[in-house]
Amino acid sequence: MEREAMEFDVLIVGGGPAGLSAAIRLKQLAKEQGREISVCLIEKGSEIGAHILSGAVLDPRALTELLPKWQELGAPIDTPVSEDRFLMLTANAGTKLPNALLPACFVNHGNFVISLGSLCRWLGQQAEALGVDLFPGFAGVEVLYHTEGERRGAVKGVATGDMGVGRDGQPTDAYQPGMELHAKYTFFAEGCRGHLGKQVEAKFNLRDGVDPQVYGIGIKELWQVKAEKHRKGLVVHTAGWPLAADTYGGSFMYHFGDDLVAVGFVVGLSYGNPYLSPFEEFQRYKTHPMIRGFFEGGRRIGYGARALAAGGLQALPRLVFPGGCLIGDDAGFLTASRIKGTHGAIKSGMLAAEAAFDALATGRAGDELSAYPEAFRSSWLHDELYRARNFKPWMSKGLYLGSLMFGIDQQLFRGKAPWTLRLHADHTKLKKAAQCQPIVYPKPDGVLTFDRLSSVFLSNTNHEENQPCHLTLKDPAVPITVNLALYDAPEQRYCPAGVYEIVSDGDSGSTRPRLQINAQNCVHCKTCDIKDPTQNIVWIAPQGGEGPVYLNM
Ligand SMILES: Cc1cc2nc3c(=O)[nH]c(=O)nc-3n(C[C@H](O)[C@H](O)[C@H](O)COP(=O)(O)OP(=O)(O)OC[C@H]3O[C@@H](n4cnc5c(N)ncnc54)[C@H](O)[C@@H]3O)c2cc1C
Ligand code: SF4
Repeated sequence: MEREAMEFDVLIVGGGPAGLSAAIRLKQLAKEQGREISVCLIEKGSEIGAHILSGAVLDPRALTELLPKWQELGAPIDTPVSEDRFLMLTANAGTKLPNALLPACFVNHGNFVISLGSLCRWLGQQAEALGVDLFPGFAGVEVLYHTEGERRGAVKGVATGDMGVGRDGQPTDAYQPGMELHAKYTFFAEGCRGHLGKQVEAKFNLRDGVDPQVYGIGIKELWQVKAEKHRKGLVVHTAGWPLAADTYGGSFMYHFGDDLVAVGFVVGLSYGNPYLSPFEEFQRYKTHPMIRGFFEGGRRIGYGARALAAGGLQALPRLVFPGGCLIGDDAGFLTASRIKGTHGAIKSGMLAAEAAFDALATGRAGDELSAYPEAFRSSWLHDELYRARNFKPWMSKGLYLGSLMFGIDQQLFRGKAPWTLRLHADHTKLKKAAQCQPIVYPKPDGVLTFDRLSSVFLSNTNHEENQPCHLTLKDPAVPITVNLALYDAPEQRYCPAGVYEIVSDGDSGSTRPRLQINAQNCVHCKTCDIKDPTQNIVWIAPQGGEGPVYLNM
């Protein structure tokens, strides 16, 4: 069946802060200059915000540039940070670092604790009011290229996925073909490890000459705590226990709203021990004597996980290519030392929108928006990423050496040290199981600590079971012949949703081990696509509108 096509000036793939800000900025400029410009934004979640998971402490700088009157417009931003605590934990104790010793990047005065999902829902309303065509429930699944004429080879748009295709790849009674969305410029704003972004990076060699991107997995819970335990605006970060000193990671705990606490744990995906489970490390962390008290008597009301791109400046790919660009975490604008990417996502979306608007005004289409990277290079965002560029490489050298060297980098050189350290791809860092010690994690108590399945339940994740599996394997034999044989099947532990299981009761009655993929549980965090040691797992978008439905995350 032939796909229908729709034409736009600008198409944006992804309704996070980057995509929504780009859409808003394009329409603002059109309004200011009295011009018509058509902007379409597609989002794979069932609604804007459904797939958004962040911390989140917001640096409002970029939002204020985009919508200076956000307060009057009713943005859901009402918890100013009131106190910063940075704790170094050991198994049974901890030390609060004096705030005077904290590098500026760890200080949150002037920032706000928010739910990024709620902010995105509100940004979606602002975009819609300006006339952006928002299509939630539609996943971009294929990049389209011009095949003839002077724009030959340039990006032409994307196709959304077919609905109603059975597990066997054949159309079911509910079959509906996807749509082709064509545009003069297409912005890829899929967030960290965007699967179409990955394809355009390869097609246009956008990563040539830059370091590999590096990542962390962030696992988060939302708690309703007892009123007497709540300290509105309190921001707590920890390093140390339960992670070993050679593993990069730490926790965040943000008090906001009405007795709500966002608590989460980030583990750098450069970890070596295949027995490590980021999910169980997070569960253990909540039992620490300096932490558990906040949650006792409270109730866990939300759960989710998402990877974050932490490579910063030296891992940023070329941002533009004929017919489009990468914005937000799809490129990698997060400042790892601050665990903040929202302001960078908004700013990059704005800069790309301004470049596209000027190009459209002069009748251009399908070429490279070179004004966007130029504007980025002279922006405050570039300056911020430049100063933070050695954070991740230093921290990969271990907690104590890394903290010392990054401290010198920030306090002595103010981020302008005459060296730039290099990054290495996370999947290459996994060690063989035989070289590592298994880690024994305590059993969940169902009060403070939980198992994966009851956690996934709180993410409201849903996928139609009768559809092709969206966790694809380049070689179906590798999970057993390589992953199980050499690494004791690490996907069983790094997946925060229990999607991967090694079972030996195959459908055929065979007792040989096989990998079972419970794709319906996937929360779209992308960790498997990143950490699989031979890059054999490729995440592709399932039917639009499926996956988690996060509330207040
Ligand atoms: C655990 C954690 C804690 C964090 N804490 C903070 C913090 O405290 N402060 C801060 O500033 N930042 C924080 N960040 C980072 C911040 O959340 C990101 O930098 C920011 O969300 C990036 O915005 P984005 O628009 O680029 O991508 P995203 O927010 O990831 O949005 C991308 C959107 O695109 C959609 N999408 C993806 N692929 C497709 C497709 N093919 N078709 C259609 N739609 C698609 C997704 O569903 C999603 O809605 C944190 C991140 C994590 C994971
Ligand atoms: S299957 Fe992959 S993308 Fe889905 S939740 Fe697990 S690790 Fe994340």
